[in-house]
Amino acid sequence: MLLIRKLRDLRAVLDAWRASGAAIGFVPTMGALHAGHMSLIEAARRAGQRVVVSIFVNPTQFGPNEDFSRYPRDEEGDARQCRAAGADLIFLPPVEAMYPPGSVTRVHLSKLTDTLCGPFRPGHFDGVATIVAKLLNLVQPAAAYFGEKDAQQLAVIRRMVADLDIPVRIVGCPTVREPDGLAMSSRNRYLSPEHRRQATCIFAALRQAAAAIAAGQRDAAKLRSDMRAVLEASGPLQIEYAEVVDAATLQPLEQISSSALLAIAVRIGGTRLIDNVSIAM
Ligand code: AMP
Repeated sequence: MLLIRKLRDLRAVLDAWRASGAAIGFVPTMGALHAGHMSLIEAARRAGQRVVVSIFVNPTQFGPNEDFSRYPRDEEGDARQCRAAGADLIFLPPVEAMYPPGSVTRVHLSKLTDTLCGPFRPGHFDGVATIVAKLLNLVQPAAAYFGEKDAQQLAVIRRMVADLDIPVRIVGCPTVREPDGLAMSSRNRYLSPEHRRQATCIFAALRQAAAAIAAGQRDAAKLRSDMRAVLEASGPLQIEYAEVVDAATLQPLEQISSSALLAIAVRIGGTRLIDNVSIAM
């Protein structure tokens, strides 16, 4: 497994791989890797691709009061896991390489970002779209793998790739969960044991709403208030949203008639956690 930090070294290796006919599968991450990330690497391997993993804590997707400086960083542990999962190359650029002095261009989406996480994280999705566009241009993969756990991010990236004609296949991969249902996340390591136990309320609320829909409930307002009740019963926490949105537009629904996304964001003990479940009709 190669570990590369310089853009020109990355280009040289990938040019050679492509010239030899290899297809590249790309997994962009912010590191502090876990089994969710490994599932993306495995999906690329199953497709028979050379797997490139980027590890870059992207400053432009963090707000001024967010956790950029304390975001968990574990280069050695990440490299060990990538090697074990069969990745071929890790790209670890320094911030100055991705945002050299004078860089001012940002990718902005005028839709898909005004609901769910968008209003709570101004500028976040522009930062995500910008770094993913840059990484896709650098790596030029045949396919890029993203987790459905970040459903709005996945929708934003699919839209950006279509709008900018970036020649890559975007593959969404199912959310990997802990045995008790909590979606795996690099931020779970911030949780105290007590908050870690409480955090199971997120998937419990989503699962209960999904079961209600399966039993015939179609009223989105009722589903929202029932999800909130499950979250609030778990103990003190701050609900950012407990939403029922259209799966394609991410706009709030009144009635469930076609595919929907149930999505939750909460803060437990200061840690922001998100999760979602999609409902196919
Ligand atoms: P991050 O390092 O949090 O930026 O995530 C990098 C990629 O891994 C994104 O495409 C995430 O959606 C994906 N990911 C994060 N957590 C999970 C999970 N629990 N299951 C599947 N994919 C995940």
